[in-house]
Amino acid sequence: MEKIRIPADIREYKNKKAARRLIPFAVLLVAVALFIFLWGDMLFGGFGAGNQATIYVLLFLIPFAATGLPVALMGRTWIGTVVNVDRELSTAFRSKSPGKTGDMYTKESVVLYIRLDSGKVINRTVHECDANRSQKFEQYREGDRVLHLAGTKYLQVLPTAASQEIICVICGTENPIANKKCDLCGHTLRLTNERK
Ligand SMILES: [Zn+2]
Repeated sequence: MEKIRIPADIREYKNKKAARRLIPFAVLLVAVALFIFLWGDMLFGGFGAGNQATIYVLLFLIPFAATGLPVALMGRTWIGTVVNVDRELSTAFRSKSPGKTGDMYTKESVVLYIRLDSGKVINRTVHECDANRSQKFEQYREGDRVLHLAGTKYLQVLPTAASQEIICVICGTENPIANKKCDLCGHTLRLTNERK
């Protein structure tokens, strides 16, 4: 089995990313506390003590929801095997204002079905684009061993003796297998030891 080794530059990237969430989280938390301190009794005092407590709990959930902190904290690192590469077509709107018509297009999504080493099968959308302008997307194939590193976006196909490219987990760029660092973002590419 592969052994994951997270290099120092990737650890640093992840820590910085976590810190960028913590600051807005702390600011929001203080804002909610201040709001309750200043206006809590005036606004919610008439609802009864139980309801007032419930409202406060809900208000304190806002910083978590707004900064996505629980999602970030629950992120897991895993390795699995691609069991199916599915190409799905769906109708989507190009602009984010759904009132406008004529912006509909056919979206092609590439969904991987991955059997984790725990045995659980999950699916993950790895590519979405306009089907008419679609270029062939073949970063992942059935049978690939893929690694997801918590806090990063791109799945890495674990290199084998036959690999020509290696995908950067930070920016998704496919690099020549001989590269130690990503051509685009400069992060270390290999996160695992060779398979024994
Ligand atoms: Zn990169």
